[in-house]
Amino acid sequence: MLAGCGAGNTPKTANGAAAPASSAHAPTAGGNAAAATDASTTGASIPTTPSTSAPTLVAIEALRPPIHPWLIPFGARRKREMAEYSLRHYGEYTYLLRDPKVIVEHYTETATAGEAYNTFAPDVPDSELHELPGTCAHFLVEPNGRIDQLVPLYLRCRHTVGLNWTAIGIENVGFSDQQILADRAQIHASLALTRWLRCRYGISVRNVIGHNESLSSPYHRERVAALRYQTHSDWNHADMTRYRALLARSSCPR
Ligand SMILES: [Zn+2]
Repeated sequence: MLAGCGAGNTPKTANGAAAPASSAHAPTAGGNAAAATDASTTGASIPTTPSTSAPTLVAIEALRPPIHPWLIPFGARRKREMAEYSLRHYGEYTYLLRDPKVIVEHYTETATAGEAYNTFAPDVPDSELHELPGTCAHFLVEPNGRIDQLVPLYLRCRHTVGLNWTAIGIENVGFSDQQILADRAQIHASLALTRWLRCRYGISVRNVIGHNESLSSPYHRERVAALRYQTHSDWNHADMTRYRALLARSSCPR
């Protein structure tokens, strides 16, 4: 079902109200530019934390896996809609993702990256919550290990209710947590991408979460009462415990 990453969407709390949000993804895998993302296109500028030394920054950037730029349209209208969404849900009018604190892992519920891309690219109300802008994620990780960047890191994306103000979204192409954990090329790429991102933004392993863990994040915020317990079923706690254990095997340069 192309409506939202992570299959079903089960509110996971005792009183899970509301239905899940949707997002899905789809088509084509366009080109295959190797590791060619340039900062101006993808917003991947090097962080400027005063406490991070230049050699450490270089070491962190050396962790950056090859990333194929495959940006969805995100023009002035979509940015304005994202700012309006942020105002409704977080009380701040901005489309900018600043100093992200969380990385959320998802799966697409699609067989291909192309299907996911095609779901995210159109700026239309999502099928679940019927809001604008359209849903999206910053990255796709394909079964063959290719990483696609759909949205620059300086932009907010609608992928996880309650966390879109501070979370980077990674959509792993596939139909279940276990499928992705069992795919060597894909899990290797997913971990490499997540490691680089968490090291560059100083995000702890515990704040690398699955969509299904969204409600327990200390960063979760939601002004719309009907959505306060809304989440999806993708990447549950047990599978994320495995994911985080794998991620923790590799530390960040210091
Ligand atoms: Zn999800």
